[in-house]
Amino acid sequence: MLTTVVGSYPSFPRQPSSIGEKISNCMGSYDAYKSALELAVQDQVKAGVNLISDGQVRGNMLEVFAREIPGMITKDGIPIIIDRIQPAPHSIGASDIKMALKTASKLSSDFSNDLQILSKNKFQDKFKGIKAIITGPTTLALSSRIEGFYSKDEKNEAIIDIASVLKKEAEHLQNAGAAVIQIDEPFLSTGIADLKIAKKAIEIIVNDLHQPTSIHVCGPISEVIDDLLKFKVSIIDCEFADQNKNLEALESINLNGKKMGLGCIDTKTNTVETKEQVASIIKKGIELVGKENLIADPDCGMRLRSREAAYSKLKIMVETVKWLS
Ligand SMILES: [Zn+2]
Repeated sequence: MLTTVVGSYPSFPRQPSSIGEKISNCMGSYDAYKSALELAVQDQVKAGVNLISDGQVRGNMLEVFAREIPGMITKDGIPIIIDRIQPAPHSIGASDIKMALKTASKLSSDFSNDLQILSKNKFQDKFKGIKAIITGPTTLALSSRIEGFYSKDEKNEAIIDIASVLKKEAEHLQNAGAAVIQIDEPFLSTGIADLKIAKKAIEIIVNDLHQPTSIHVCGPISEVIDDLLKFKVSIIDCEFADQNKNLEALESINLNGKKMGLGCIDTKTNTVETKEQVASIIKKGIELVGKENLIADPDCGMRLRSREAAYSKLKIMVETVKWLS
């Protein structure tokens, strides 16, 4: 069974300290987040995770996209749509994907094999690679205040325009070496999102991609799982540690050839679970959808956890998966 992360990792930007760093800071080329990214990658590789992320260390999932997309700005961390949404002139995350792959391949040669391609239908247990993460168009639009171009009460047009921008970004990420493209749509379980528009928007992003795609949805899924399974992605990723009613929602589903991302680590607490706790969720998942259809991961991003807890949680997850195989 493959292991992965949802994406974010504790981030510790570092101020320039050496003379060289101070000079590049003056010239505007110093990257305070480079060491945070390297640390996130190192911990994931060391914990033995198959499909790692770049740690999403540069800010929260809304602002990192909203501040780069023409037509959007951020104010106090909140995205605001001020004009017609247009494609960004450059990729938002491709350089971080490249930096993460370079860091990972220095630590383990498993990450440097360019020929390793994750098949959409059968995931090889030993696969090592990187997953790129995009904040979904529905979540981005519904979290934004509209102050220009679009109607305030009708966000569908903005959702579709954001999707066209993210389609280009997904292609950049795929070209940068991402083995999987994940779209985060926490709003889809809240009851306020229009799932038909959300599905259409996801299709715009994934239609021409050749790599497997995933959608991550937080919260309770019993009301939405049947709709999510109709989305045109390879993996549906949800929370099962903190949301154990979600396991019941898997009892009568038809996977339609998709894989299930099984959140089996609670990401709301620093308390590290025991192997037995993790195993009980994975065993239930195996019973309900079959081992060959599961990928194990934490419930959600780990940005708010301590580094020690985040690392220990990943390690116990990987050890439990090995223990059960
Ligand atoms: Zn989540």
